[in-house]
Amino acid sequence: PPQPATLERAAVIDAAAIRHNVRTIASYVHPAKVMVAVKAEGYGHGALTSAQAALDAGADWLGTAHVSEALALREAGIEAPILAWLHTRGTDFGRAISEHIDLGISGWEIHPVAEAAESLQRPARVHLKVDTGLGRNGCTIEDWPELLRIAANYQERGLISIEGIFTHLAVADEPDRRETDAQLDLYRHALEVAQEHRIVPDLRHVANTPAALSRPDAHFDMVRVGVGVFGQSPFADRTTEDLGLRPAMELRTSVANVKRVPAGQGISYGLTHRVDQPTTLALIPMGYADGIPRVAVHAPVCINGRRYQSVGRVAMDQFVVDLAELDTEVTVGDEVVIFGGDSGIEAAEWAAAAGTNNYEIITRIGERVPRVIV
Ligand code: PLP
Repeated sequence: PPQPATLERAAVIDAAAIRHNVRTIASYVHPAKVMVAVKAEGYGHGALTSAQAALDAGADWLGTAHVSEALALREAGIEAPILAWLHTRGTDFGRAISEHIDLGISGWEIHPVAEAAESLQRPARVHLKVDTGLGRNGCTIEDWPELLRIAANYQERGLISIEGIFTHLAVADEPDRRETDAQLDLYRHALEVAQEHRIVPDLRHVANTPAALSRPDAHFDMVRVGVGVFGQSPFADRTTEDLGLRPAMELRTSVANVKRVPAGQGISYGLTHRVDQPTTLALIPMGYADGIPRVAVHAPVCINGRRYQSVGRVAMDQFVVDLAELDTEVTVGDEVVIFGGDSGIEAAEWAAAAGTNNYEIITRIGERVPRVIV
């Protein structure tokens, strides 16, 4: 078990929670396969830790944005199928092919990928990505027939093997919105057009966590899930617990200082907050360099099992909590949980205080915060 000193500033990663969440989502989407997105260092939890826990729980695939992320997993000994879907001119497609990494293709990449395959004398495994409405990566529906024509040609020449067709949803976290229906209609249409080009891949995949949990009609052959695996709810009106999931990250530290201040005391840079009565302040040794959003105010913190609120601006290394007039029990060294664990505080509450989402909160926890795996 981790020593108390290492817990004084740590993101405690609960591998059992990751395994539980993978199994929960897998049972929900069965018989569809499960790809776990472990990009961005496993949403801040550690790519290898997350990948290993996900595979131990039966995940079929791993997903990354960049080939470099996928290669790092291969170097660490991960042999499971991996799909990487976001490329730049400098992406090392040759190494990806050599390392059995499947490549998402939105357009231009198909040529350098086929060239790399030709020089290696080995077909690249690709998943064609169609943009059905997100307006981000993926081939537009207008350019789709042309991409299919090129892909079919490369496939006939033995340079690529088309393993999948996929798309990504824009508003699945808001289940009432109609745009998801339109995206699914367009995706089915894109599959039909592919079939006309004699492209019928085994893996049709669309659903992210919110669609995996709320839209069985989006499950197809595989879901690609990230945030739910890490025990974060993608829905504004449903908690992690509501979804039967468990948070996989507990961000914790200990009180660095405690002091009494008189009424009128200003707090932190800009003096944006002043206490209106004499009070006790606790200093929390985590700041924006650790991923605590600078703009978050009145965000919750759990000290010795009790909830308090942050006051004033978060600084680079620290922020301040108002313990309120009567509470003088808190002392230096007492346990602080910023979110997760048994605190009852969700990363989503910090997100709300900072005008962002829980994805951003967990992925931005800084490198300076040690990950302690339990
Ligand atoms: N698929 C793609 C293409 C993604 O970019 C992501 C993450 O943003 C996911 C799946 C996983 O999404 P979520 O974390 O909402 O499950």
